Amino acid sequence: MILQFIGFLVNLHVKGSPFLSRTKLPACAEIHVLLMSRRRCCICFGLHGDTDIKRGQIAHLDGNPENNSVENLAFMCLVHHDEYDGNTRQSKGLTIREIKHYRVELYEFLQGSFRPGAASSTESPWSNLWPPGKWTVEHDEALEFYTGTHRSQSVVFAVSQGPITLEDINACIPPHDVDWTESIVSDLVKRGWIQVTSSEPGRYELSTQGYQMLRALMEIPENIKDAVWRRVWLGEGEDEDGDLP
Ligand SMILES: [Zn+2]
Repeated sequence: MILQFIGFLVNLHVKGSPFLSRTKLPACAEIHVLLMSRRRCCICFGLHGDTDIKRGQIAHLDGNPENNSVENLAFMCLVHHDEYDGNTRQSKGLTIREIKHYRVELYEFLQGSFRPGAASSTESPWSNLWPPGKWTVEHDEALEFYTGTHRSQSVVFAVSQGPITLEDINACIPPHDVDWTESIVSDLVKRGWIQVTSSEPGRYELSTQGYQMLRALMEIPENIKDAVWRRVWLGEGEDEDGDLP
């Protein structure tokens, strides 16, 4: 039952991406790209400074669908993916080097805009958003998770695939520094979202609290999550009352 739920969750996580459903991109590569890009198209960003969420796909930059190294992957909007993959690429002059440059700029922009503490100034900063009267502590946790670091998110999603070892988790989390990964895992255990599997010491699994947090995350509409994320990371949408648009 929980595994079915996780399958649903992962499908939900990559929704709007037909390319993903017909290929066997490894889950950790896929999650890495989606979390790093936050579904922003690197070409839209590079050429137009456009930071809007796009319906898009993960592109293999060298054109080889077998090369699933994260270095070879980039999230693109449908228009730019078509342009990059199709025969108009030559005329548009979009080169791999150019795309990789835009991707670096996009990732740096998204990470560099982080403003820690912005989301934790009051006890329940988002409870006026959605759904009226139904907001729970799990929804607060879900937004804390959603606006957290991409590495913490990657660890939770990796662990949600089933009881896995620290080494397996580390394989999913660049730069694959086991000490760093261990400290993230340890923080998440303290946070209560993951736990050591009681029947298999040395492996980690989602805790009940983590499961409830991810379920709450699914309930929150995308536009709310995006508005909160933009406010925390980009400082957008704040007015004098601190309300979101
Ligand atoms: Zn684009």
